[in-house]
Amino acid sequence: MLSFACNAPKRVMASKEFDSIDQKVDSVMQLMTLEEKIGQLNQYNGFWDVTGPAPKEGQAAKKYEDLKNGLVGSMLNVKGVKDVYALQKIAVEQTRLGIPLLFGFDVVHGYKTISPIPLAEAASWDLEAIKKSAAIAAEESAAVGINWTFAPMVDISRDARWGRSMEGAGEDPYLGSLIAIARIEGFQGDLSSNKSILACAKHFAGYGFAESGRDYNTVFVSDEILHNVILPPFKASVAAGVKTFMNSFNDLNGIPATGSAFLQRDLLKEDWKFDGFVVSDWGSINEMIPHGYAKDSKQAAEIAINAGSDMDMESYAYVAHLRTLVEEGKVAVAHIDDAARRILRTKFELGLFENPYKYCDEAYEKATVGKPDFHEGVLDMAKKSIVLLKNESHLLPLKKSGQKIALIGALANDKTSPLGSWRIAADDNTAVSVLEGMQKYPNNELLYAKGADVAVGRTQFMWETKINMTDTSGFAEAIETAKKADVVVMVLGEHGLQSGEGRSRADLGLPGVQQQLLEAVAEVNPNIVLVLTNGRPLAIPWAAENIPAIVEAWHLGTQSGNAIAQVLYGDYNPSGKLPMTFPRNIGQVPIYYNHKNTGRPVMNEPESVFWSHYIDEKNTPLYAFGHGLSYSKFEYTDLKLSSTTFSKNGSIQVSVTLKNNSNVPGKEVVQLYIRDLVGSYIRPVKELKGFELVSLAANETKTITFTIDESTLAFYTANNRWEAEEGEFTVFVGGSSDQNLTSNFQYTNN
Ligand code: BGC
Repeated sequence: MLSFACNAPKRVMASKEFDSIDQKVDSVMQLMTLEEKIGQLNQYNGFWDVTGPAPKEGQAAKKYEDLKNGLVGSMLNVKGVKDVYALQKIAVEQTRLGIPLLFGFDVVHGYKTISPIPLAEAASWDLEAIKKSAAIAAEESAAVGINWTFAPMVDISRDARWGRSMEGAGEDPYLGSLIAIARIEGFQGDLSSNKSILACAKHFAGYGFAESGRDYNTVFVSDEILHNVILPPFKASVAAGVKTFMNSFNDLNGIPATGSAFLQRDLLKEDWKFDGFVVSDWGSINEMIPHGYAKDSKQAAEIAINAGSDMDMESYAYVAHLRTLVEEGKVAVAHIDDAARRILRTKFELGLFENPYKYCDEAYEKATVGKPDFHEGVLDMAKKSIVLLKNESHLLPLKKSGQKIALIGALANDKTSPLGSWRIAADDNTAVSVLEGMQKYPNNELLYAKGADVAVGRTQFMWETKINMTDTSGFAEAIETAKKADVVVMVLGEHGLQSGEGRSRADLGLPGVQQQLLEAVAEVNPNIVLVLTNGRPLAIPWAAENIPAIVEAWHLGTQSGNAIAQVLYGDYNPSGKLPMTFPRNIGQVPIYYNHKNTGRPVMNEPESVFWSHYIDEKNTPLYAFGHGLSYSKFEYTDLKLSSTTFSKNGSIQVSVTLKNNSNVPGKEVVQLYIRDLVGSYIRPVKELKGFELVSLAANETKTITFTIDESTLAFYTANNRWEAEEGEFTVFVGGSSDQNLTSNFQYTNN
């Protein structure tokens, strides 16, 4: 016998037994009025002080009234069990049907205990670790009452100017798909447990291709790029069982994604058989008005619901207009029923009807938030996310004693910046700084100088930050400190809030006067280890040329300083690889490894100008996709193919010998790429199709084997189908997209 936590219909439903969730959903649907169904489609941002008196006027009063009248299906940004409980109680006890609410939140890389930003985690290429990081975030946020995260962001991006590059898995659809799956599995785990929450694949679709890297901008992409590059991580998300999707602010080839029936109905729900629901992005239904696609909010509601946007986040458009639109015959009741059903189904899947307060236990909240094992987990993830970009002159790892170390840079002594963007619930000053991390190695003398400020006065949502600080008054002290030191560690880059939503940049250098500071310090002491903290690839050609050691440390979260210190001192051997190309020059952007060849590739006669290049910059990146060094020395030899030809339903094995030619145990990401030499659409010069994270003891050798079959070669062809085309292929294996052993094989379609 099921007991539902509903009011009036409780008796009706409790008297029946239901076999499937669909039957349960139907049983609720048949009790609902049209308004109540529309109410399920309405999501409001968290509003008044819920434990205080009821709001009497303004927006809060309207939301409160709507909530009591059963016209709200979900709320977002409500923080903490006390508030969640109070709101859930209104929904369950004061509305006619007592249908529980979903509570959504941007748990993007942790709630209070913060993991590295998603782009950094992607640099680990460690799917188990990424899954675990998402599971930690789910467990901690579930403990504060949240049952739905607006993550993972699975947008592919090739443009480092786009501030939200930090929130995704980088530029590659294959890596991006696997990471999407890992994150979804980590968040959703077993939804019947109170440690798991709903995930949301976003932003459907094309948001990462905003023209000029400017957030919210127009997206214009071909069918081929859409299917082969942008959509794969979304499709993988559906296959992984993601329960929700979020649509997107941008237009895709002239139609706002929020109003696109092609994306939401035809592709997602019809072709891919997605049975969860689609939430709009914040206000994106009404944004169709300034887009020039709807004349007013009523028309925007009509377009969005007909296109398959199931839930309205903060446009107030559905709750205001859907009823009239149904009466006028512009919206079919079937569309509203379908959307309401999808939303109710997730509530049943979470077990909220049986126990609406499943996530509401204040004692458990207290015992869970910030647990020591969460800290261990995010520290482990942070170490795995670090990428050693360059290590000459044997500066790294640092010697543990007898050294004078100058630590320079405002970001070295910053306990907020490492938290990165999208950490709404974490308090400022809660990360371990690099200074604190390095102080844990007491046998060296550590001297600190700020040098120059990077950013001031920042909050997550308001842009109060000066991007370009000009004050050089701290240079003299930094130079004097550097002069006294054996080694200088400079922590430079972007503040954590210089990337993220609304934080696109037109320049990819070090913000403010940091480049000048770096050059001034290098003049007096060239033994510099540059630690970069940033939310996107940077263009730092001078540093790449002149600084002997460079460590990419992104924004690594709560345990940042400990992770960085352990890597600098060699207590952790770095194994990260770049998930996104670093340009030499902003003019090269978008720059990505899986580009196509032109009809004018590199020419033999270098004096000719008639090939595809710049006259003032190289074509190659500063650091390629997949690049990352180690304190071990890895060597690849003996690339072997089990056969040089195979046909449909067959496969070949590709093997390579990997040797750790050093006395330092380490891990290496062995990468497999292919190139389809002739295709019905021009194929990329290289595409990642496999990788393995391999641990090797000192001087150990291992053979790594990959299998290539039809599915490895399939792509969205000019026939508008996923299929493998016959012909010749090149296979590349190595430790980076630009360092490979190669061989060729043939594939036939019979
Ligand atoms: C972002 C979404 C986010 C939503 C709710 C929007 O501005 O684009 O990714 O989930 O806000 O906070």
